[in-house]
Amino acid sequence: MGFSKPAPEKRAMITETPLVIESLTDISQSPDPDSWNQVLAGAAKKVEALLKQLNIPVTELTLRQQACLDFPLLVPQPFIDKMEKGNAQDPLLLQVLPQREELEAAEGFINDPLAEKHSNLQKGIIHKYHGRVLVLLSTGCAINCRYCFRRHFAYSENRIGKNDWQGILDYVSQDPTIEELILSGGDPLMLSDQQLKKFIQQAEAIPHLQRLRIHTRLPVVIPQRITTTLINILHSCRFSCAIVLHINHSQELDPILIKGLDSLRRAGITLLNQAVLLRDINDNLETQIDLSKALFAAGILPYYLHLLDKVTGAHHFNVSEKDALVLHQQLLLKLSGYLVPKLVKEESGKGSKTPLVLIS
Ligand SMILES: *Cc1c(COP(=O)(O)O)cnc(C)c1O
Ligand code: SF4
Repeated sequence: MGFSKPAPEKRAMITETPLVIESLTDISQSPDPDSWNQVLAGAAKKVEALLKQLNIPVTELTLRQQACLDFPLLVPQPFIDKMEKGNAQDPLLLQVLPQREELEAAEGFINDPLAEKHSNLQKGIIHKYHGRVLVLLSTGCAINCRYCFRRHFAYSENRIGKNDWQGILDYVSQDPTIEELILSGGDPLMLSDQQLKKFIQQAEAIPHLQRLRIHTRLPVVIPQRITTTLINILHSCRFSCAIVLHINHSQELDPILIKGLDSLRRAGITLLNQAVLLRDINDNLETQIDLSKALFAAGILPYYLHLLDKVTGAHHFNVSEKDALVLHQQLLLKLSGYLVPKLVKEESGKGSKTPLVLIS
């Protein structure tokens, strides 16, 4: 299958293979390791410029700009390139375009829906679930998704300097029940490859750690982020590695991204996907079927389909639990079991995500 090479094989390769694995890393679009940074620096930051580039009439500009005061527009060019020109309802555009609804209050939608602050005992760590911890190494993202539950998160309090790494590593060292590090954020791939390498090397010294997971949307919005160096770092560390991509629509997969993902997979990295169920973007059967099929074709297994976290300013993306369950049931009837993601929601105070199942 090729989803995850057994660990012993991977380890055997490390001892024999030097850091550069040429056959695995032919990603011709990124000869310059800094190129993803340049793409990021050139990301769209103005509503008007974004809409003009897409040949879409600029409407409600003042309201959209007002929404940006709270949470700025940020969209890298490769993501814009995947949008359909002239389509104001493009499913990728709708994920990033500020709307007047963001300025409206809605019942049940609050600033910190997951009450993350309370499980944030050690700076940079969220330890809610058994056996694994969420590590926030980076507070930034390469794209600002309007539905994001972190849009009001107290990032500044959690800004991690290199000196804080020690605090994170000490916390993990002292708890032998922690087997897995989940790098999250923000987006952990906002770190440079050198920073990531340093962090991973320090984590490798903690004997009870077995697995490393990276939750990221960066390769989806800037495929050049899958650098040869990144692949080699993950391939040569002693952990079993998984990358959980955040892809909401099949249109987000493009040939450069698929090529980069293929290199990661050949390097023994397990690829999974977590999508958010978003109204008018991916809340219909055909779109979900297309997404699952396109993911699998790209070597990614659908992992979670997440209900929206009820954050202020995102109520226009909400799909009711009832509708979500009906959609999920239809998916089960149409797809192989492994192509159906688990439908889950996040509830504060629970020991895991909560699976939603239809009681019939
Ligand atoms: C979702 C999540 C995880 C990972 O949960 P899995 O069910 O293992 O994917 C870990 N920590 C936090 C805070 C999370 O929200
Ligand atoms: S954390 Fe994820 S959903 Fe939120 S802005 Fe960053 S990439 Fe988008």
